[in-house]
Amino acid sequence: MSKREDDCIFCRIAKGEIKSEKVLESNNFFAVLDIHPKSEGHTLIIPKKHFVTLLDIPNNLGQELLEFIKKVASNLMDQKRADGFNIVMNNLECAGQIVRHAHIHVIPRNEGDGIIGMV
Ligand code: AMP
Ligand code: ZN
Repeated sequence: MSKREDDCIFCRIAKGEIKSEKVLESNNFFAVLDIHPKSEGHTLIIPKKHFVTLLDIPNNLGQELLEFIKKVASNLMDQKRADGFNIVMNNLECAGQIVRHAHIHVIPRNEGDGIIGMV
């Protein structure tokens, strides 16, 4: 594996080298709780392979990814942690991407939670 991936925090979580709160897994993706949640249950959906942005994720993973996002979001709704949710993806530094391994935020929302800006 290349150095870049050895240094990548999400690759290290995928390999089990760094502890995380995994909530769900599919063939190519896993979901963990964000360590700095914007709301309770804030979850990150992360490809197991090292892709940097949405543009690097192969199209043939599209259906699996959509199903996985829907499953994470509907679990949050079913567990009554959310009345609604935001899906956010920051792509590259100028758009607020800090971890250079593609990931999608699922942010549970509730009436009057006062959360303003998602980036
Ligand atoms: P961004 O790259 O700005 O879209 O966001 C990166 C997100 O990863 C932030 O919300 C961090 O709180 C989160 N994060 C960073 N390290 C970890 C970790 N070890 N486990 C879970 N979430 C993390
Ligand atoms: Zn990575």
